[in-house]
Amino acid sequence: MLLDSFGRVATDLRVSLTDRCNLRCTYCMPPEGLDWLPKPELLTAEEIMRLVAIGVERLGITEVRYTGGEPLLRRELTEIVARTTGLRPRPQVSLTTNGIGLARLAGALAGAGLDRVNVSLDTLDKDVFVRLAHRDRLRDVLAGLSGAAEAGLLPVKVNTVLMRGINDHEAVALLEFCLERGYELRFIEQMPLDAQHGWTREGMVTADEILAVLCARFDLTPADPVERGSAPAELFLVDGGPARVGVIGSVTRPFCGACDRVRITADGQVRNCLFATEESDLRGAMRAGASDAELAERWKAAVRGKRAGHGIDDPSFLQPARPMSAIGG
Ligand code: SAM
Repeated sequence: MLLDSFGRVATDLRVSLTDRCNLRCTYCMPPEGLDWLPKPELLTAEEIMRLVAIGVERLGITEVRYTGGEPLLRRELTEIVARTTGLRPRPQVSLTTNGIGLARLAGALAGAGLDRVNVSLDTLDKDVFVRLAHRDRLRDVLAGLSGAAEAGLLPVKVNTVLMRGINDHEAVALLEFCLERGYELRFIEQMPLDAQHGWTREGMVTADEILAVLCARFDLTPADPVERGSAPAELFLVDGGPARVGVIGSVTRPFCGACDRVRITADGQVRNCLFATEESDLRGAMRAGASDAELAERWKAAVRGKRAGHGIDDPSFLQPARPMSAIGG
């Protein structure tokens, strides 16, 4: 088991398949992009599968989510998904993506056994999309969402980050859009994980603000809290249900006490928290010839040191050196 010193058990593994992305969302990276990891530093598909298999077969991982950067940019993605769903005990396998290219790939991914997909969509307005993501790709994202639904990757979940003065007027429209299509929307508070270090507390649209805007238009009732478990989203039934909307108050309503997540970066570092300032190098150990048992021990030690909380409110809080795209969101 991946047990930490506060008794939490990590069962949900997030694996970044690449730090590259074809969008430049301002809450994540600057318009000019970042210095991407050199290819030799990236885990190969074989190395990824070795670590994922160790997680599932030896360490109690029950859910694997592929993310990035943009995971659809990884050429071996379908093969990686198929191999992951072939592991026993079979983990739940999901993908977090910006949706660009998903229209073309959704069928193959569903065929490989992918269980679920989260597509990021911050706006329905082409001009706002360009302002926020510095690329004119809204049409591709919307096509990706439809493609996921047509391929049966249900329920399609949508992630939205609202930014003050940019897209924060679209909360209601985004929820209406998702309700009409049967997508499940989650609003995520903006976290201090952008490469430019531009995050400010005042600039962040809080969970309270989001709920106030939604409550003015919809009847929201809290969904069964038992169902939430360790999931980050607080869920609400919309107008009596069954449709739901989620709000992830990562900053103002932290859920660290129930956290069951652990991450592997695209270059093979274990991170026990999005906000960790330390990592444990599995790639180096693997390439130096470590056995599966040795890698599992290293991984366990890395999780053991997980802090009680992300500490954004501590005066001593330091934003991690790696931005979200490099950690794997
Ligand atoms: N490229 C994929 C995508 O767009 O979904 C996967 C990676 S992205 C880092 C994963 C999720 O993290 C997206 O839903 C994105 O909106 C969210 N995200 C990125 N930076 C964030 C930040 N600073 N605060 C909150 N969420 C963020």
